[in-house]
Amino acid sequence: ELCTVRDLLRFSVSYFNQSDLFLGHGLPSAYDEASHLILHALCLVPDQMELFMDARLTRQERTRILHLIERRVHEKIPAAYLTHEAWLGDFNFYVDERVIIPRSFIAELLQTGLSPWVTDPDDIYQALDLCTGSACLAILLAHAFENAVVDACDISLPALEVAHRNVANYDLTNRVNLVYSNLFAQLNGKRYDLIISNPPYVKTESMASLPEEYLHEPEIALAGGVDGLDVIRNIISHAARHLTKHGLLILEIGHNRDAFEETFPKLPCTWLETSGGDQFVVMIKRGDF
Ligand code: GLN
Repeated sequence: ELCTVRDLLRFSVSYFNQSDLFLGHGLPSAYDEASHLILHALCLVPDQMELFMDARLTRQERTRILHLIERRVHEKIPAAYLTHEAWLGDFNFYVDERVIIPRSFIAELLQTGLSPWVTDPDDIYQALDLCTGSACLAILLAHAFENAVVDACDISLPALEVAHRNVANYDLTNRVNLVYSNLFAQLNGKRYDLIISNPPYVKTESMASLPEEYLHEPEIALAGGVDGLDVIRNIISHAARHLTKHGLLILEIGHNRDAFEETFPKLPCTWLETSGGDQFVVMIKRGDF
Protein backbone atom coordinates (compact mmCIF):
# COMPACT_ATOMS: atom_id res chain seq x y z
CA GLU A 1 0.00 0.00 0.00
CA LEU A 2 1.33 3.36 -1.16
CA CYS A 3 4.71 1.92 -2.03
CA THR A 4 5.37 3.30 -5.48
CA VAL A 5 5.06 6.61 -7.29
CA ARG A 6 2.09 5.13 -9.15
CA ASP A 7 0.35 4.27 -5.85
CA LEU A 8 0.85 7.77 -4.49
CA LEU A 9 -0.36 9.34 -7.71
CA ARG A 10 -3.51 7.22 -7.74
CA PHE A 11 -4.16 7.93 -4.08
CA SER A 12 -3.65 11.69 -4.50
CA VAL A 13 -5.85 12.04 -7.54
CA SER A 14 -8.78 10.31 -5.89
CA TYR A 15 -8.23 12.22 -2.64
CA PHE A 16 -8.23 15.51 -4.57
CA ASN A 17 -11.35 14.53 -6.47
CA GLN A 18 -13.18 13.93 -3.20
CA SER A 19 -11.97 17.11 -1.58
CA ASP A 20 -13.80 19.85 -3.43
CA LEU A 21 -10.67 21.68 -4.52
CA PHE A 22 -10.58 24.57 -6.95
CA LEU A 23 -8.36 23.51 -9.84
CA GLY A 24 -7.81 26.59 -11.91
CA HIS A 25 -4.46 28.04 -11.02
CA GLY A 26 -2.52 26.82 -13.98
CA LEU A 27 -2.94 23.12 -13.23
CA PRO A 28 -6.27 22.18 -14.80
CA SER A 29 -6.90 18.71 -13.37
CA ALA A 30 -6.48 16.73 -10.16
CA TYR A 31 -3.97 14.60 -12.05
CA ASP A 32 -1.90 17.64 -13.05
CA GLU A 33 -1.87 18.91 -9.47
CA ALA A 34 -0.94 15.55 -8.00
CA SER A 35 1.87 14.92 -10.45
CA HIS A 36 3.18 18.47 -10.03
CA LEU A 37 3.41 17.98 -6.25
CA ILE A 38 4.89 14.48 -6.47
CA LEU A 39 7.52 15.49 -9.02
CA HIS A 40 8.48 18.40 -6.80
CA ALA A 41 8.77 16.26 -3.67
CA LEU A 42 11.03 13.84 -5.56
CA CYS A 43 13.07 16.54 -7.33
CA LEU A 44 12.12 15.12 -10.71
CA VAL A 45 11.29 16.92 -13.95
CA PRO A 46 8.04 16.11 -15.79
CA ASP A 47 9.73 13.87 -18.40
CA GLN A 48 10.94 11.54 -15.67
CA MET A 49 7.52 10.65 -14.29
CA GLU A 50 7.02 7.62 -16.54
CA LEU A 51 10.49 6.30 -15.78
CA PHE A 52 9.92 6.36 -12.02
CA MET A 53 6.29 5.24 -11.99
CA ASP A 54 7.03 1.87 -10.43
CA ALA A 55 9.95 2.98 -8.29
CA ARG A 56 9.55 2.18 -4.61
CA LEU A 57 9.57 5.25 -2.41
CA THR A 58 11.65 5.65 0.69
CA ARG A 59 9.82 6.48 3.89
CA GLN A 60 11.07 10.08 3.72
CA GLU A 61 9.94 10.51 0.13
CA ARG A 62 6.50 9.22 0.99
CA THR A 63 6.26 11.54 3.97
CA ARG A 64 7.33 14.51 1.87
CA ILE A 65 4.69 13.78 -0.75
CA LEU A 66 1.89 13.18 1.75
CA HIS A 67 2.76 16.37 3.58
CA LEU A 68 2.30 18.42 0.38
CA ILE A 69 -0.90 16.59 -0.51
CA GLU A 70 -2.34 17.26 2.96
CA ARG A 71 -1.47 20.95 2.83
CA ARG A 72 -3.11 21.25 -0.59
CA VAL A 73 -6.32 19.70 0.75
CA HIS A 74 -6.53 21.14 4.26
CA GLU A 75 -5.10 24.62 3.81
CA LYS A 76 -6.38 24.98 0.24
CA ILE A 77 -2.99 26.31 -0.81
CA PRO A 78 -2.70 26.27 -4.61
CA ALA A 79 -0.09 23.73 -5.72
CA ALA A 80 2.06 26.42 -7.36
CA TYR A 81 2.54 28.14 -4.00
CA LEU A 82 3.53 24.84 -2.37
CA THR A 83 6.23 24.19 -4.95
CA HIS A 84 7.02 27.84 -5.83
CA GLU A 85 6.78 26.89 -9.45
CA ALA A 86 4.13 27.78 -12.03
CA TRP A 87 3.76 27.17 -15.74
CA LEU A 88 2.37 29.44 -18.41
CA GLY A 89 2.54 27.89 -21.85
CA ASP A 90 6.03 26.49 -22.22
CA PHE A 91 7.52 28.82 -19.65
CA ASN A 92 7.97 28.27 -15.97
CA PHE A 93 8.17 30.86 -13.24
CA TYR A 94 9.06 31.23 -9.62
CA VAL A 95 5.96 32.23 -7.63
CA ASP A 96 4.99 32.83 -4.04
CA GLU A 97 2.11 34.57 -2.30
CA ARG A 98 3.40 38.02 -3.29
CA VAL A 99 1.99 37.48 -6.83
CA ILE A 100 -1.00 35.76 -8.37
CA ILE A 101 -0.38 32.46 -10.10
CA PRO A 102 0.10 32.98 -13.87
CA ARG A 103 -2.97 31.97 -15.90
CA SER A 104 -3.58 34.77 -18.38
CA PHE A 105 -5.29 34.12 -21.71
CA ILE A 106 -3.01 36.77 -23.19
CA ALA A 107 -0.28 34.12 -23.00
CA GLU A 108 -1.99 32.11 -25.77
CA LEU A 109 -2.04 35.16 -28.01
CA LEU A 110 1.60 35.97 -27.35
CA GLN A 111 2.62 32.45 -28.25
CA THR A 112 1.13 32.98 -31.72
CA GLY A 113 3.06 36.27 -32.08
CA LEU A 114 -0.31 38.09 -32.10
CA SER A 115 -0.87 37.19 -35.70
CA PRO A 116 -2.66 38.56 -37.68
CA TRP A 117 -2.77 41.74 -35.60
CA VAL A 118 0.95 42.20 -35.60
CA THR A 119 2.10 41.67 -39.20
CA ASP A 120 5.83 41.66 -38.52
CA PRO A 121 6.97 40.73 -35.00
CA ASP A 122 10.26 42.50 -35.74
CA ASP A 123 8.38 45.80 -35.81
CA ILE A 124 7.61 45.77 -32.09
CA TYR A 125 10.38 47.81 -30.47
CA GLN A 126 8.78 49.22 -27.34
CA ALA A 127 6.33 47.12 -25.35
CA LEU A 128 4.64 47.55 -22.00
CA ASP A 129 3.11 45.11 -19.53
CA LEU A 130 0.92 46.78 -16.91
CA CYS A 131 0.23 44.92 -13.63
CA THR A 132 3.11 42.59 -14.35
CA GLY A 133 2.98 40.58 -11.10
CA SER A 134 5.43 37.70 -11.54
CA ALA A 135 6.50 39.26 -14.89
CA CYS A 136 5.17 36.16 -16.63
CA LEU A 137 3.57 38.09 -19.50
CA ALA A 138 6.50 40.49 -19.79
CA ILE A 139 8.81 37.51 -20.22
CA LEU A 140 6.54 35.94 -22.84
CA LEU A 141 6.46 39.32 -24.61
CA ALA A 142 10.24 39.48 -24.71
CA HIS A 143 10.36 35.99 -26.24
CA ALA A 144 7.63 36.67 -28.80
CA PHE A 145 9.15 39.96 -29.98
CA GLU A 146 12.89 39.71 -30.10
CA ASN A 147 13.52 43.35 -30.95
CA ALA A 148 11.33 44.58 -28.15
CA VAL A 149 12.42 46.33 -25.02
CA VAL A 150 9.73 45.69 -22.42
CA ASP A 151 8.72 47.94 -19.56
CA ALA A 152 6.87 46.00 -16.87
CA CYS A 153 5.00 47.96 -14.19
CA ASP A 154 3.45 47.04 -10.91
CA ILE A 155 2.04 48.97 -7.99
CA SER A 156 3.26 46.30 -5.57
CA LEU A 157 6.92 46.34 -4.52
CA PRO A 158 6.74 42.79 -3.16
CA ALA A 159 5.44 41.64 -6.56
CA LEU A 160 8.33 43.39 -8.28
CA GLU A 161 10.79 41.40 -6.15
CA VAL A 162 9.29 38.20 -7.55
CA ALA A 163 9.28 39.71 -11.04
CA HIS A 164 12.96 40.54 -10.69
CA ARG A 165 13.79 36.97 -9.80
CA ASN A 166 12.00 35.66 -12.90
CA VAL A 167 13.49 38.24 -15.24
CA ALA A 168 16.96 37.36 -13.94
CA ASN A 169 16.25 33.61 -14.31
CA TYR A 170 15.48 34.19 -17.97
CA ASP A 171 18.54 36.39 -18.42
CA LEU A 172 16.36 39.27 -19.56
CA THR A 173 17.50 42.05 -17.23
CA ASN A 174 18.80 43.99 -20.24
CA ARG A 175 15.46 43.82 -22.10
CA VAL A 176 12.78 43.79 -19.41
CA ASN A 177 12.76 46.90 -17.20
CA LEU A 178 10.77 46.64 -14.01
CA VAL A 179 9.07 49.88 -13.06
CA TYR A 180 7.46 50.63 -9.71
CA SER A 181 4.44 52.52 -10.97
CA ASN A 182 0.70 52.81 -10.59
CA LEU A 183 -0.13 51.99 -14.22
CA PHE A 184 1.25 54.77 -16.47
CA ALA A 185 2.08 57.20 -13.65
CA GLN A 186 5.89 56.88 -13.79
CA LEU A 187 6.24 56.41 -17.55
CA ASN A 188 6.71 60.09 -18.44
CA GLY A 189 4.64 60.08 -21.60
CA LYS A 190 6.65 57.28 -23.21
CA ARG A 191 4.94 55.58 -26.21
CA TYR A 192 4.71 51.89 -26.99
CA ASP A 193 4.00 49.75 -30.06
CA LEU A 194 2.22 47.24 -27.86
CA ILE A 195 0.65 47.49 -24.41
CA ILE A 196 -0.73 44.42 -22.68
CA SER A 197 -2.34 43.97 -19.30
CA ASN A 198 -4.03 41.33 -17.21
CA PRO A 199 -5.28 43.78 -14.59
CA PRO A 200 -7.28 43.09 -11.43
CA TYR A 201 -10.91 42.85 -12.56
CA VAL A 202 -12.91 40.88 -9.99
CA LYS A 203 -16.09 42.72 -8.93
CA THR A 204 -16.34 43.58 -5.25
CA GLU A 205 -19.45 41.43 -4.81
CA SER A 206 -17.71 38.45 -6.41
CA MET A 207 -14.63 38.68 -4.18
CA ALA A 208 -16.37 36.96 -1.25
CA SER A 209 -17.48 33.99 -3.32
CA LEU A 210 -14.10 33.18 -4.86
CA PRO A 211 -12.86 29.69 -4.02
CA GLU A 212 -10.71 29.52 -0.88
CA GLU A 213 -7.58 29.05 -2.99
CA TYR A 214 -7.84 32.69 -4.09
CA LEU A 215 -7.44 33.88 -0.50
CA HIS A 216 -3.78 32.95 -0.81
CA GLU A 217 -3.36 35.36 -3.72
CA PRO A 218 -2.77 39.10 -3.16
CA GLU A 219 -6.11 40.87 -3.05
CA ILE A 220 -4.66 43.90 -4.80
CA ALA A 221 -3.98 41.75 -7.88
CA LEU A 222 -7.61 40.57 -8.07
CA ALA A 223 -9.95 43.29 -6.80
CA GLY A 224 -11.33 45.53 -9.56
CA GLY A 225 -13.85 47.63 -7.61
CA VAL A 226 -17.66 47.66 -7.64
CA ASP A 227 -18.07 46.94 -11.34
CA GLY A 228 -14.70 45.26 -11.81
CA LEU A 229 -13.56 48.04 -14.11
CA ASP A 230 -11.67 50.43 -11.80
CA VAL A 231 -8.22 49.62 -13.11
CA ILE A 232 -9.46 49.01 -16.65
CA ARG A 233 -11.05 52.51 -16.79
CA ASN A 234 -7.77 54.01 -15.72
CA ILE A 235 -5.87 52.10 -18.41
CA ILE A 236 -8.36 53.01 -21.17
CA SER A 237 -8.33 56.67 -20.26
CA HIS A 238 -4.54 56.98 -20.58
CA ALA A 239 -3.65 54.38 -23.20
CA ALA A 240 -3.98 56.54 -26.32
CA ARG A 241 -1.33 58.91 -25.02
CA HIS A 242 1.07 56.00 -24.60
CA LEU A 243 0.62 54.22 -27.93
CA THR A 244 2.56 54.81 -31.13
CA LYS A 245 0.61 55.53 -34.32
CA HIS A 246 -0.08 51.87 -35.11
CA GLY A 247 0.10 50.76 -31.50
CA LEU A 248 -2.19 48.14 -29.96
CA LEU A 249 -3.65 47.75 -26.48
CA ILE A 250 -4.54 44.23 -25.40
CA LEU A 251 -6.49 43.87 -22.18
CA GLU A 252 -7.83 40.88 -20.33
CA ILE A 253 -11.19 41.77 -18.75
CA GLY A 254 -12.54 38.46 -17.45
CA HIS A 255 -16.31 38.09 -17.29
CA ASN A 256 -16.95 41.82 -17.62
CA ARG A 257 -17.67 42.12 -21.34
CA ASP A 258 -21.20 43.52 -20.91
CA ALA A 259 -20.13 46.07 -18.32
CA PHE A 260 -17.17 47.00 -20.51
CA GLU A 261 -19.35 47.60 -23.58
CA GLU A 262 -21.78 49.67 -21.52
CA THR A 263 -18.99 51.75 -20.04
CA PHE A 264 -17.23 52.40 -23.36
CA PRO A 265 -20.09 52.37 -25.88
CA LYS A 266 -18.20 54.34 -28.52
CA LEU A 267 -14.91 52.49 -28.33
CA PRO A 268 -14.35 50.21 -31.35
CA CYS A 269 -13.05 46.93 -29.93
CA THR A 270 -11.86 43.67 -31.35
CA TRP A 271 -12.72 40.66 -29.17
CA LEU A 272 -9.89 38.20 -29.42
CA GLU A 273 -10.42 34.47 -29.62
CA THR A 274 -8.88 32.53 -26.71
CA SER A 275 -9.75 29.32 -24.87
CA GLY A 276 -11.32 31.44 -22.12
CA GLY A 277 -14.94 30.88 -23.18
CA ASP A 278 -16.77 33.59 -21.25
CA GLN A 279 -13.54 35.31 -20.18
CA PHE A 280 -12.64 38.00 -22.64
CA VAL A 281 -9.56 39.60 -24.09
CA VAL A 282 -10.09 42.83 -25.96
CA MET A 283 -7.88 44.72 -28.39
CA ILE A 284 -8.08 48.43 -29.15
CA LYS A 285 -6.02 50.14 -31.85
CA ARG A 286 -4.42 53.53 -31.31
CA GLY A 287 -6.45 55.02 -34.15
CA ASP A 288 -9.72 53.94 -32.55
CA PHE A 289 -9.45 55.85 -29.29
N1 GLN B 1 0.52 39.91 -15.24
C1 GLN B 1 0.40 38.90 -14.21
C2 GLN B 1 -0.40 37.73 -14.73
O1 GLN B 1 -1.01 37.82 -15.76
C3 GLN B 1 -0.23 39.46 -12.94
C4 GLN B 1 -1.60 40.02 -13.13
C5 GLN B 1 -2.13 40.66 -11.87
O2 GLN B 1 -1.44 40.74 -10.86
N2 GLN B 1 -3.37 41.11 -11.92
O3 GLN B 1 -0.42 36.69 -14.15
